[in-house]
Amino acid sequence: MNLMESVESLKGIGPKTAAVLKKAGIKTLRDFFYNLPRDYENFSAPIDINSMRPGKVVVRGKIDSLSTRPSRRKRLSITEGVVRDHSGAVRVVWFNQGYRVRQFSPDKEYYFTGIYELKNGRYQITSPSAALVTDVDLNSGFSPIYVAHGSIKSNDFRRLVNNSRERFAEIPDLLPTVPKGTRKEALFKVHFPSSAKVAKEGRDYLAYEELFELILASKLNRQENEKLTASPVPFNVEKIRDFVSKLPFKLTNAQRLAAWEIFQDMEKTTPMNRLLQGDVGSGKTMVAAMAAYEAVTAHLQIALLAPTAILATQHFEGLSKLLSSFGVKVALLTGATKKKEELKKKILAGEIDFVIGTHALLTDDTEFKNLGLVIIDEQHRFGVEQRQKLALKSPKDKAPHLLAMTATPIPRSLQLTVFGDLDVSILNELPKGRQPIETSILAEIDMKDKLYPEILRTVKSGQQVYWICKAIDDNPTTETTSVKSRATKLMKLFPDFRIEFLHGRMKPNEKDEIMERFATNKIDILVSTTVVEVGVDVPNASLMIIENAENYGLAQLHQLRGRVGRGSVKSYCYLITSGENHPSRRLLELEKSTDGFYLAEVDLKLRGPGEIYGALQHGALDLRIATLTDTKLIHRAQLDVEKFLQNDGNMLKYEELRAGISKYQQLTTLN
Ligand code: ADP
Ligand code: MG
Repeated sequence: MNLMESVESLKGIGPKTAAVLKKAGIKTLRDFFYNLPRDYENFSAPIDINSMRPGKVVVRGKIDSLSTRPSRRKRLSITEGVVRDHSGAVRVVWFNQGYRVRQFSPDKEYYFTGIYELKNGRYQITSPSAALVTDVDLNSGFSPIYVAHGSIKSNDFRRLVNNSRERFAEIPDLLPTVPKGTRKEALFKVHFPSSAKVAKEGRDYLAYEELFELILASKLNRQENEKLTASPVPFNVEKIRDFVSKLPFKLTNAQRLAAWEIFQDMEKTTPMNRLLQGDVGSGKTMVAAMAAYEAVTAHLQIALLAPTAILATQHFEGLSKLLSSFGVKVALLTGATKKKEELKKKILAGEIDFVIGTHALLTDDTEFKNLGLVIIDEQHRFGVEQRQKLALKSPKDKAPHLLAMTATPIPRSLQLTVFGDLDVSILNELPKGRQPIETSILAEIDMKDKLYPEILRTVKSGQQVYWICKAIDDNPTTETTSVKSRATKLMKLFPDFRIEFLHGRMKPNEKDEIMERFATNKIDILVSTTVVEVGVDVPNASLMIIENAENYGLAQLHQLRGRVGRGSVKSYCYLITSGENHPSRRLLELEKSTDGFYLAEVDLKLRGPGEIYGALQHGALDLRIATLTDTKLIHRAQLDVEKFLQNDGNMLKYEELRAGISKYQQLTTLN
């Protein structure tokens, strides 16, 4: 069987069905077999209707009196009917599932499973799943549930899979080194399990397969990187020692170690490919500065790419002050830069050593004389293409050394799989004298009593405040307070304070001006959207207020919170909730811990790898099965990939595997 063939080669799938499937992304046989059940319904052991107790039930019977009516509440339709068996009858109710009226024939028997409960004075089974008795594997009572695709509902897809039952035997293996079993068995077990255990066996095999692909992709990335040539930078002990001795503070041990790892990488003729991970405030910029200075001593140019103009400007201000005293020529290139042409000429002529900028750096007419080091700040904000674009600005036949920085710690399991090809340095230590940020969850109604006095105290003592809102403008359909209305309210409450607002729709130079005023303590309270999330460094700010905190992810909240606690005074963070519900696990964890590495692990458990990956890397890692928390399975796949690369590294034979991993390769590479 060629899995790349169209689904139309399956029994029961004509052009019409194929078109619907295609819209859902199911085009080939591979797509079809890999459209795995999202869950299973267990219809085994149905009970008599007259012996049901409230709770989850399974019954078997015929259904009649089906009808749909709109509910009094807007946009809700109610479909109800009566299910009968030999012992009695029960009402069944669905919401917004009008198609149910057409699903059943009155003379056929179905299984129903759902919650039996008392609603508005009557007993009913609410939103039961249903399956034709003849469709369910009678031995197991197990029935897969598929995600509905347009008019193809779970039951329809199950029927299609049933029709193709015989074709499973033809499915070829994907992996050259098959562990236990075969792919055809695994897929069959997942679609037609005879028990929960069997279904899991099938999924485990497929998870292994996915991990194998991921790990292979990242290993191949490494191999490809090793084929490139970079300009080596000899370690310049004296100059670096001198540089470090003139810093206004002592480096942390973690900073020292990271810098040392970077210098070692840059000494080589293979390009460095290193990720510098450090929690917010751990001092990544200083490590980048050392790498840049080292590169300058070897007459290479450096480009630092930052995701926002605010951040680029701030880096420029800090780094040019520091580096110009060592003779390094630093320039800023953002969309708002004046006399761009002139600057670009200087860059091309090699008169600028170190260019710091935003996306404006990526344009074709930004050319370098001898770009040798690329530094990406907040690397997850950039896609592969953008990073590649910058890397291609190095001289012909040369690749630049690459240092990517991120404040989002990578959980260990992701490190082993997705980011296996990267060298990683970790700043797991904050500069001395920092006090941990104290975080509290606060219900909106308590703001007046508990938060406003805190704001007064903070501003009166000369410190500054961030207030984060979700929306820019008021929107009557959501409950979230906007930046503008929050700022107005605060101005009324605190007429003596200097209050301004900031958001992403302002012009870049407007944003920069406000940020500049905040950085120089000309603003007491800055009401802002998450544009301040990344990197901004104002050590005098010591109070962070995040309104509608439930609307943000854990990693993002941690990032936002990291805007305070950067100076020597104690900082506080308030997570404001509506107070209607018990605070989420996310907020509780955040209240408990300031350790980014711990929070990243929690986040991985709460949200799964796909979303975590999104927070680490631009783009979507769409894993169907592998959870990336199974370190045993990861380890096994790792060993097998090693073996495969040693014995059978000729990828050309494995067409399907190659296609699968090239997608992963694009996603997981840094360069
Ligand atoms: P991040 O890792 O979040 O990017 P930054 O590089 O912005 O952190 O550094 C945070 C702050 O800590 C900056 O004000 C920086 O000057 C300061 N800093 C960096 N390294 C040290 C150190 N070793 N000792 C004291 N302060 C430091
Ligand atoms: Mg930073």
